[in-house]
Amino acid sequence: MAASRSDAPVVIAVAITGSVPRKKDNPAVPVTVTEQIESTQQAFEAGATLCHIHVRNDDESPSSDPDKFAAVQEGLRKHCPGMIVQFSTGGRGRDPAARGLSLKHRPDMASLSTGSVNFPTIVYENAASLVTDLASQMKAYGVRPEIEIFDLSHLHGAKRLVEAGLIDAQPHVQFVLGVQNAMPAEEHLLDILLTETRRILPEATWTAAGIGRNQAVVMEWALARGADAVRTGLEDNIRVTKDRLASSNAELVGLAAEAVARHGRRVATPAEARAALRLA
Ligand code: ZN
Repeated sequence: MAASRSDAPVVIAVAITGSVPRKKDNPAVPVTVTEQIESTQQAFEAGATLCHIHVRNDDESPSSDPDKFAAVQEGLRKHCPGMIVQFSTGGRGRDPAARGLSLKHRPDMASLSTGSVNFPTIVYENAASLVTDLASQMKAYGVRPEIEIFDLSHLHGAKRLVEAGLIDAQPHVQFVLGVQNAMPAEEHLLDILLTETRRILPEATWTAAGIGRNQAVVMEWALARGADAVRTGLEDNIRVTKDRLASSNAELVGLAAEAVARHGRRVATPAEARAALRLA
């Protein structure tokens, strides 16, 4: 794709929390707003330039409270200057009607899933009408979407949004591999997805997320193919090895930075990250 020059700096995205309660599995997962800001600041200092955010209720269940999203954003703007703030509009455990409530706070970006898919224990429902509604709200608030690709058909969902004028023709897409019951983490699937992306969204920038133990290997595959960004963080994976828990989001970001260097590239600064992902 156009922006995937092999010498371009790489955006490191950190998904700090996620929506699955994990504190019992790894106490390093930040849950409160204060924990989230502290964890992100450490990750920022380790090289992350994009933060993907879910917020939680006090009992750790997923929250759609726009005030919590705003509070995290405010902390990041203060402590992580230039970092790209990305709110999740993901659905697990959230009322569909509430998933876009935080967009009024105008984060730099928000995740946008363009189709439904099976998840480990639920159907992640993204009806066409909801996708259109969320994309319309993002356009109205000037929020740049990150298109979440859990299935090949989701690329075509993105293409339809381009054709409808709801997103521009240079979207940022993320391929998600390794979610149980969705696409497995297999290298040739990334090639299939990239081939189709180049055909129907030739100007797209891209990244890939490997879930759980697939995090590091999917990052390698992405870097080997000139990805614009890589994704890490405790949302997707709580371990460094099978036997050792990650101590922080920053530790995972440090591993990502090492992977970037191994591929002869360097980690993007905040300004470079914004340029790479076409943010003002
Ligand atoms: Zn997420």
